[in-house]
Amino acid sequence: MIKDKRVAVIGSGFGGLAAAIRLQAAGIETVIFEARDLPGGRAYVYRDQGFTFDAGPTVITAPTCLEELFEVAGKPMADYVTLLPVSPFYRLVWEDGYRFDYIGDGDRLVDQIRERSPGDVAGYLRFVDYAKKVFDKGYTELGAVPFLRFWDMIKVAPDLARLRADRSVYQTVAGFIKDEHLREAFSFHSLLVGGNPFETSAIYTLIHYLERQWGVFFPKGGTGALVQGLVKLFTDLGGEIRLRSPVEQITIEGKNGSVRHRILSGQETDSFDAVVSNADLHHTYATLYRDHPRGQQMGRRLERMSWSMSLFVAYFGTDRRYDDLAHHTILFGPRYKGLLREIFHGGDLPEDFSLYLHAPTVTDPSMAPPGCEAFYVLSPVPHLGKAKIDWTSAAQPYADRIYQSLERHLPHLRQHIVTQRLFTPLDFRKQLRAHHGSAFSVAPLLRQSAWFRPHNRDPVIPGLYIVGAGTHPGAGVPGVVSSAKATASVVLEDFG
Ligand SMILES: Cc1cc2nc3c(=O)[nH]c(=O)nc-3n(C[C@H](O)[C@H](O)[C@H](O)COP(=O)(O)OP(=O)(O)OC[C@H]3O[C@@H](n4cnc5c(N)ncnc54)[C@H](O)[C@@H]3O)c2cc1C
Repeated sequence: MIKDKRVAVIGSGFGGLAAAIRLQAAGIETVIFEARDLPGGRAYVYRDQGFTFDAGPTVITAPTCLEELFEVAGKPMADYVTLLPVSPFYRLVWEDGYRFDYIGDGDRLVDQIRERSPGDVAGYLRFVDYAKKVFDKGYTELGAVPFLRFWDMIKVAPDLARLRADRSVYQTVAGFIKDEHLREAFSFHSLLVGGNPFETSAIYTLIHYLERQWGVFFPKGGTGALVQGLVKLFTDLGGEIRLRSPVEQITIEGKNGSVRHRILSGQETDSFDAVVSNADLHHTYATLYRDHPRGQQMGRRLERMSWSMSLFVAYFGTDRRYDDLAHHTILFGPRYKGLLREIFHGGDLPEDFSLYLHAPTVTDPSMAPPGCEAFYVLSPVPHLGKAKIDWTSAAQPYADRIYQSLERHLPHLRQHIVTQRLFTPLDFRKQLRAHHGSAFSVAPLLRQSAWFRPHNRDPVIPGLYIVGAGTHPGAGVPGVVSSAKATASVVLEDFG
């Protein structure tokens, strides 16, 4: 029965690719429609003058969720991609010069905590115990399980209450650790999935345990090589990917039981038994299903929801190498809480910034020509629905301010930049069709999580499923790959 089915996956982000692999591996004829010229979504790749720039995800965690895709397909992962371990996981640097190497080795991590704030060692160890409990429940048990009925939420409510999921990440960390720098070191992680640590549920402290459990990795050849590996896996299974094929509209034909989704892309139409949308949620409902009352209703509902912040990203290459670089560096600015408030709730571009600096050449020198360094620097900024910033004129001056501040760590940087590309919230909106130019979709607030998040299966439109950052469990590579497991399981169940 499954063998006669055809499914369209709209979008080739990690979530779309993972769902497509699972469906194709189950024997369903699966076609991916990707609007852009390359697959990967936020994990797009730019190349220039011998430099390779991964556009988005660079911190690859929870390798088991990726390994599972190869297992499901019955292929050895080693034939497709190699994951290289990264250490330190992150280097954290503050304006006062304090530097903390966030590493996987628990003893060495504790040594650094002891050096900074001896009184916080016991609290940190209790925090790890807590984070493990949250990880066991939030990731292992519930991360890849769809929340389709309110009852699913009621069942887990006592556990969430016991784990104090109502508290924020920062509030929770602050309950265990007193030193402000260390509080920041163990609470910034929710930003990696688009959440303000002062508002995001303590459930996201699980990221700390997840990183300790498996480590942090970087694919040989860059995140783009992982995307290519997944695309190859999908096509080796017989799947079809159509690049440069933006879907413009989807209409429903037939009635319950024999519904078809008619996809319009360019001049062509094609018909499918089901659609798994990996595209932005608001775009999916308000644009693709615009003729369906549910599409319009969900569009309005999504406009009332809180969306995660956007990002400003500068990709740049230098004609020299730098000493003492870490692969991932977080440069905390002078403010933490105040800056985050302005990013998530302010109406303007904040004066100061906190940055993430990516230097992949530290792990894989092939990402740049010999003697050169490839970088990207990222600054969280308000999304387009919050702040009226004219990015067409603000982008280069903002990049210049960032480069200037980086010169404290990368001497004479501006003289050595030989290639540059900027990506602003306008690009998130235009190129990725992201509502408000949000970088991580619907914000990971408790009131927008699990059952309260748009569901993996739409409850009204038969044969419409959602995968990726906007549905359960949420953004980040492990999140969207887990969402694919949840979504594919529901599709397969519905197909009997
Ligand atoms: C700069 C940046 C850095 C990040 N760093 C990390 C990190 O280090 N680690 C981590 O785990 N996560 C990171 N993230 C988050 C992570 O990248 C995302 O949450 C995840 O990749 C999103 O995947 P997705 O499946 O939701 O799809 P997306 O990547 O959002 O892809 C959606 C795809 O749908 C396509 N599409 C949209 N509309 C249509 C249409 N109408 N027709 C056809 N195709 C369409 C788009 O072109 C796109 O390719 C980062 C994100 C960003 C932006």
